[in-house]
Amino acid sequence: MRPTGDVQEHQTATTGLFLRDDFPILQRMVHGVPLVYLDNAATTQKPTVVIEAEAAYYRTSNANVHRAIHTLGEEATRQYEQARATVASFIGSPAPEQCVFVRNATEALNLVAWAWGMDHLSSGDEILLTVMEHHSNLVPWQMVAKRTGARLRFLPLAPDGTLRLDALDTFLSERTKIVAFTHVSNVLGTITPVAEICRRAQRLGAITVVDAAQSVPHQPVDVTALGCDFLAFSAHKMYGPMGIGVLWGRLERLQEMEPLFGGGEMILRVGLESSTWNEVPYKFEAGTPNVAGAIGLAAAIDYLRGIGMEAIAGYESQLTEYALLRLRSVPGIEVYGPESPRGSLVAFNVPGVHPHDLSQFLDQQGIAIRAGHHCAQPLLKHLCVVATARASFAPYNTRADVDALVDALGRVGDFFGHVGS
Ligand code: PMP
Repeated sequence: MRPTGDVQEHQTATTGLFLRDDFPILQRMVHGVPLVYLDNAATTQKPTVVIEAEAAYYRTSNANVHRAIHTLGEEATRQYEQARATVASFIGSPAPEQCVFVRNATEALNLVAWAWGMDHLSSGDEILLTVMEHHSNLVPWQMVAKRTGARLRFLPLAPDGTLRLDALDTFLSERTKIVAFTHVSNVLGTITPVAEICRRAQRLGAITVVDAAQSVPHQPVDVTALGCDFLAFSAHKMYGPMGIGVLWGRLERLQEMEPLFGGGEMILRVGLESSTWNEVPYKFEAGTPNVAGAIGLAAAIDYLRGIGMEAIAGYESQLTEYALLRLRSVPGIEVYGPESPRGSLVAFNVPGVHPHDLSQFLDQQGIAIRAGHHCAQPLLKHLCVVATARASFAPYNTRADVDALVDALGRVGDFFGHVGS
């Protein structure tokens, strides 16, 4: 890991803020050239400390948690609960119990929609979302709205891709029970003013649900400062393992929620006809949890903290600014989303080339980007496109990676022969 302290700006611009050597996969070649990985919004690569933390758990302490009264079981339980405490302090949670381990952000959002929504929504109530939600923060609400008779409403976007906050008061009313929205759009990079939206929603008695899948990995996030009721994120987008994520909730909200899954771990007492529930967070963690994943997530958080979330946000913001500047030099390119502030990603289209073809062309040159609808079909419809390309950054990316992308885009016309037509 890079030593903390004053890091030469030009040096980090060349080498990245993370040491690339910390990430074994970044040493590999793709089609005979070194990998340039620009698909971090889909998932990030894993440093050796994360890979080793998971492996060490399986090598030395593997056992089921919370039940066993033997050394390995106690070690596994201690490490799992320590991971919860690490998560809690990373996001400013007043208590570790407020962090529920789930599989990913999608499961976290579904848990709120089903476990809170089904019991608190009825016909005539409103759920306020935004036009730019990932399907994970849209489809669960559609499903719950259909069953409860609640109505979905959508905050619109301004032409530059920012949220129309001026319209918030016309959408918020006593009928609004839930306001669920993304902290950072995975397509536009738009950053929403979470604290302000939460304040205004709560004044009318609505609960707030924040999809933080694209913010927790890239900037300091403090749930207490944000003032939300729920916040969801995935470990795999923050250098941690796949298959583990977090739902953070206000204690009273979690306490008033019924569990979604029944089974082992989540009960206090079980009778043949009925059962009572374990306390928060265990009533939401039915069955054997992903212990290795939680330990890997804690290792990722320790790694991020070693560098500092402020430093990461600053580095990525400069790199994204550079990417925007360079991408705009590509003839005819269309870049989506606001100028600034924005998350560490840029969605774009090169005229005359389908993003899938573009992605395949770049892959031949070792450059990994994303192409498609990014699980945000309504937003793409709003942008009047069916797909976009997207480059998304992490602190191991450098200006040289951006240059490699832009240089390759400069050759795309020769390859396809019709760019700009
Ligand atoms: N929300 C946003 C904004 C995302 O970008 C993603 C992942 N692309 C998700 C939710 C869902 O994350 P996961 O697939 O890890 O559940």
